[in-house]
Amino acid sequence: MFKQKTEQGQTILKPRHKGPAGSNGADISRKNWHTIPHDEVMRQFESCRQRGLTESQVEKRLEQYGSNALPAHKPPTVLQIFLHQFRSPLIYILFIAAIVCILIGDMKDAIFIFAVLLLNAFLGTIQEWKAEKGAAALQSLMQTQAHVLRDGERIDIPQGELVPGDIVFLESGNKVPADVRLLEANNLSIDESLLTGESLPVEKNVSTLEDPALPVGDRRNMAYAGSLIIQGRGVGVVVATGLQTEVGQIAESVTAADVTKTPLIIRMERFTRRIAVVVLVGTFILGGVALIQGMPAMDALFFAIALSVAAIPEGLPVVMTVALSIATQRMARRNVIVRKLPAVEGLGSCTYIVSDKTGTLTVNRQTLRQVLLPDGQRFKVSGEGYHGEGEVTPVSGEYLSDAQYRSLAGLARAGILCNEGDLHYRPAKGDWSHQGDAVDIALLAFGYKLHLAPDEIRNAVEVAGEIPYESERGYAAVFYRENDTVKVAIKGAGEHLLPFCEQALIDGERRPMDRAEVERQVNTFAEEGYRVLVIAEGEMPAGHTGPFGPEELPPLTLLGFIGMIDPLRPEAGEAVRRCREAGIHVAMVTGDHPATAMSIARELGIAESREDIITGAELEALFNEDPAQGAEKIRDIRVFARVGPLQKLTIVETLIDQGHFVAVTGDGVNDAPALKKANIGVAMGSGSDIAKDISTIIVTDDNFATIEAGVEEGRFAYANIRKVIWFLISNGTAMIVLSLLALFLGMPLPLIPVQILWANLVTCGIQDIALAFEAGEPEVMKRPPYKPTESIFNRPMVVQTLVPGLTMGVVCFGVFCWFLQAGYELEQARNLTLLALVLMENYHAGNCRSQHRSVFRVPLRDNYVLVAGVLIAHGLHLLAMNLPLFQDILELSPVSFIEWLELALLASTVLIAVEIFKFFRRRSDYHESNGGARS
Ligand code: ADP
Ligand code: MG
Repeated sequence: MFKQKTEQGQTILKPRHKGPAGSNGADISRKNWHTIPHDEVMRQFESCRQRGLTESQVEKRLEQYGSNALPAHKPPTVLQIFLHQFRSPLIYILFIAAIVCILIGDMKDAIFIFAVLLLNAFLGTIQEWKAEKGAAALQSLMQTQAHVLRDGERIDIPQGELVPGDIVFLESGNKVPADVRLLEANNLSIDESLLTGESLPVEKNVSTLEDPALPVGDRRNMAYAGSLIIQGRGVGVVVATGLQTEVGQIAESVTAADVTKTPLIIRMERFTRRIAVVVLVGTFILGGVALIQGMPAMDALFFAIALSVAAIPEGLPVVMTVALSIATQRMARRNVIVRKLPAVEGLGSCTYIVSDKTGTLTVNRQTLRQVLLPDGQRFKVSGEGYHGEGEVTPVSGEYLSDAQYRSLAGLARAGILCNEGDLHYRPAKGDWSHQGDAVDIALLAFGYKLHLAPDEIRNAVEVAGEIPYESERGYAAVFYRENDTVKVAIKGAGEHLLPFCEQALIDGERRPMDRAEVERQVNTFAEEGYRVLVIAEGEMPAGHTGPFGPEELPPLTLLGFIGMIDPLRPEAGEAVRRCREAGIHVAMVTGDHPATAMSIARELGIAESREDIITGAELEALFNEDPAQGAEKIRDIRVFARVGPLQKLTIVETLIDQGHFVAVTGDGVNDAPALKKANIGVAMGSGSDIAKDISTIIVTDDNFATIEAGVEEGRFAYANIRKVIWFLISNGTAMIVLSLLALFLGMPLPLIPVQILWANLVTCGIQDIALAFEAGEPEVMKRPPYKPTESIFNRPMVVQTLVPGLTMGVVCFGVFCWFLQAGYELEQARNLTLLALVLMENYHAGNCRSQHRSVFRVPLRDNYVLVAGVLIAHGLHLLAMNLPLFQDILELSPVSFIEWLELALLASTVLIAVEIFKFFRRRSDYHESNGGARS
């Protein structure tokens, strides 16, 4: 399956074709939009910058142009999956055997072999087909959102619902959702390497271009679907969607499939192949021995073939594919979307989680609780964070004085002007709707609580320039014209802004700022756990007409500070504790003030003292001085505050060097290097498209606890795969032991080749897959992680496999001898030996449900599939013993109930043997016996 998928994943180049023509006279399909002025573009699309399209326009255009999607690559057909089941060396051998049977006229055995092959392929097909469908369902969960203006309101819609004429907002970190002609561009730069191969981002502007033949890469006033917005903001009108976009024109499918073969599956295939070679050589030597002992040549050949079938775990790769697919589906149910399959097994090996604070450990609902003015006066703000209703009162006192109100309103006004969010009351629905950054919304709510009207304030000024908030910059600013001067309103982190502040506004007067005193106040504020934001303003020197960017900031006047509370996610503390129990370190990374970070880390139990915390600047100084010492320091640190993206990368690199298997979360453009470097990059559902593109998993609810759930599912999956391997290999061992004992003691074969085939492919071909459905055992999260380098079939597994393998082999051999001794016909003795083996396999399926827990402690309800599998498998065998056709081929005959009962009791020896083994293993130190433990 997987091979086919990668083959199909390649992009197919298709000739360019003309899209459908527009209905309103103008052919809007393939125009040189970059040469047309934007009001003309807007007119042709009957669109409006203030209102966007109306619902009815959208409906019509969706019908006309179709959805804004590129066709995904086709999944393999059922027939392809079915044929793929036959692509295995072992199957080839069986084919040869069947053909030999036909040649020597043994039609009965030939038909049987074909029937078994078909049944085997049929079972495999069902499983793989289900896995394939699961993968397709996951794809549909990964839809990206577009921000558009519709009916005058800014909303998020699935990207596929965009139509030509839509007004879309572009923001750093996201992908351009369709081909757009830019109407506004602020510091906008876009990576168009997908289309042009040019890896440097292109700076965009809005001016109309002349040359219609300009190559795509030079059309600076256009943004193309699928390219990545590296920096800045923009607004554009959609001119082409779906297949009409540039990218739709060059490639039928850009959703190239990920490499879906995981390292584990590759390793397993290698493992299976290696065993196959050894087994084939071994069994043919044994066949030779049998030949010398006087076995007819054909019998010796079939004996060798049958034994190979028994000993080669040919089902392993398929079962593992199924197990991984079950795991991805279980993860999806717990909000973890696996983008790269290796993550399933990788998550189980994770030893270190480096988590963002805001939004992951906290809910990112910023609630503005306190305000601090430069003169030290404090104010409380009541009411909810995302509502405009609430009171602002002095901390000491009941009412605001006029002077206090003026100071606060000035501060709020700056926060409203320098703001990308939106918050307004919807009388129709009786609620408050919000949009944009949580900090921005909190500031708008504060404005409403002071009875200001944010929209009026914004509309009253003319904006001259903007510096949008990017986390590495740490602040945002807006330049606006007022009374012939250009002013700037600015908000951001203290470290970034206070150095620019020279004055402070106190009682409406600009006074020199007492820096030491202000810094002391900010620190106390932050230590109380508030997320602190500085708000300031400034005035451009007269005559400065632009540009307006970070380099042009004038000296600033401090207006005050706001303190926001961002509540912890209720489940975060528990998740951190569970991680610790599972031997996983958790560290918190944040752009916030160390004191704010500390108060949250303490609440979560991540850190206890100032020793556990370091700031980005301190870290950089350490690394500049002596990288080894810096690395040593990181070992003990649990909280990284005021950290920039590059420092995040350093942290991840250092931890990986120290032998950790690191999962790191990220949401913005700047997190990309760290996400890429980490063993597991975790993107947030609400994060940027760039982060999602690079990440290995996406956590759709942004929640730290979900990462922990992912780790748990990863460990479950790994444990289940081990159970399947255990089951398959111990059964193979049993049959080899049984046959070898007979061979070396010069006795007739206890099972004839078709019986071995039957026992191997039919009567335990259902249970192995069923074991992949085992619900997880809670104990896995109480143990240290698996070493990622460790072989899945390690030394403890060998012992664990030999115990049931030898027990089953020896007991069945005993059964065979006993019945022969008692004077039974050879055929009847074989019949009973096979029944004993089939019974033992079923008991052993129970054993394999847990590697260390007693089978009686694993609830049946954890795996009804296995219960059904055991019943069906055994039912099939009972049926075969009673149906003439099978009696004939498999040389079976019915047994009495008493005989069945005796054998069933005897077969329980394998259960007892493994129970005793598990008992001693539990007593000895688990960590050692599992071998995979990390100290
Ligand atoms: P975190 O790592 O916790 O997400 P951020 O990098 O988002 O932290 O924020 C770090 C600091 O940047 C905050 O403490 C705040 O002072 C400032 N900040 C956050 N959001 C904004 C914004 N929208 N505008 C201006 N400053 C902001
Ligand atoms: Mg943030």
